[in-house]
Amino acid sequence: MSQNAAVNSNSFPSGRPVVFRNGTVLTIDPSLGMIEGGDVLVVDNRIAAVGRQVVVPESAVEIDASGGILMPGMVDTHRHMWQTALRGFGADWTLTNYFMFYYINWGKIFRAEDIYAGNLLAAIEAVDSGVTTTVDWSHGLQTVEYADAAVDALEAVPGRFVLAYGNLLGAPWVWTKAPEFADFIRRRIDGRGDMLRMQLAFDVTGDPAFPEKAAFEVARDFNLPVTTHAGVWGATNDNGIRLMHEHGFMTSSTIYVHAATLSDDSYHRIAATGGYASVSAESEHNAGQGYPPTWMLRRHNIPVSLSMDTSVWWSADLFSAMRATLNADRSREHMEAHKRNETVMLSHLRAEQVVNWATLGGAQALGMDSFIGSITAGKKADLVLIKHDQSPVMFPLLHPYGHVVFQAGRGDVHTVMVDGKVVKYDHRLLDIDLARAKQAVLKTVVHGTRT
Ligand SMILES: [Zn+2]
Repeated sequence: MSQNAAVNSNSFPSGRPVVFRNGTVLTIDPSLGMIEGGDVLVVDNRIAAVGRQVVVPESAVEIDASGGILMPGMVDTHRHMWQTALRGFGADWTLTNYFMFYYINWGKIFRAEDIYAGNLLAAIEAVDSGVTTTVDWSHGLQTVEYADAAVDALEAVPGRFVLAYGNLLGAPWVWTKAPEFADFIRRRIDGRGDMLRMQLAFDVTGDPAFPEKAAFEVARDFNLPVTTHAGVWGATNDNGIRLMHEHGFMTSSTIYVHAATLSDDSYHRIAATGGYASVSAESEHNAGQGYPPTWMLRRHNIPVSLSMDTSVWWSADLFSAMRATLNADRSREHMEAHKRNETVMLSHLRAEQVVNWATLGGAQALGMDSFIGSITAGKKADLVLIKHDQSPVMFPLLHPYGHVVFQAGRGDVHTVMVDGKVVKYDHRLLDIDLARAKQAVLKTVVHGTRT
């Protein structure tokens, strides 16, 4: 398509195939690898063909991917989207400041409409920056009315979401048992298929009585994966992991957020039960949960996904996550070697691995890798084209994986496709009402600063 044409959703009429032409395609599919000068054909909501000079139907709309990098949509496995309503407010906080604010002050005055506002802006931000699947770690859901508001916002934006249902002001063994909670699942989640899924989000305190047992049982009854902040200095520790393990609640669908301050014994238990870590390196660097743990997780063969945690402090795009993760891992490797008076001669963690964690790793953590996470014929078409012809940064393109991690940023996201639908093209969102989201967030900011 011409760069100058007025672009709207009519440029990509539903039912017409779309072909990305002549890009550097990072398929993240181990059997395909990287394809330079590659094409990807999308028919309906699925990837129909991947290769060079792909023959396409005459009706196909062409997107020129030359000079760009085409990769799978990124997956964020832990983001408190509701907190986007106060973007950047806590830039200089510690974790203690954060807990005080959300448990004692702000968290209590947050209304359902504030959840809606934060989620709406956060969901738009995710899609805009090429994050096509986001786990909304939504622990401000004081009642199901709040949860309805959260889902209303997620449904208003054409992204793929997982509502990780939580309530930091209540006890998980109480709110999971409420009849209206079961009713919410029936009303809002059942039947939504691949676009909206659900997890249970709560933390395990390490109380020897293990009151969280009842919440784990609810998760099992509803077949919901559990996501939990684990290994957070001063908050959750090895006792929580041990209790989960002893009661048989550590499974391959469990996600351990941060997993930073933990013993070898806990890492063994996670590895043995097949769970996934969600590493938020930018968060761990700043808030003090512990050192970003990929250097440890790699040692224990624990699979990694990436996340951004919250934009009340940090950025919310996975370019930042990839960069912070690679920086942290290599920094640690150097420092550990220096302690032994040695010099690192080979960078063990490669840029390619980190791009894999940001895409397929996230899909695997969520149990969604059968249909997203790589550019593979037959999978759902969640794609990101990184291309910026006016930027000096997109040239030359000598190490495409390294380019994604160290050179590109969300301003370079040219086109985003979710479930076969073009939702951003030529750096502009299509049919997404950003002004409405800003208005909603403004009301929340006024409410918060007046109260
Ligand atoms: Zn978190």
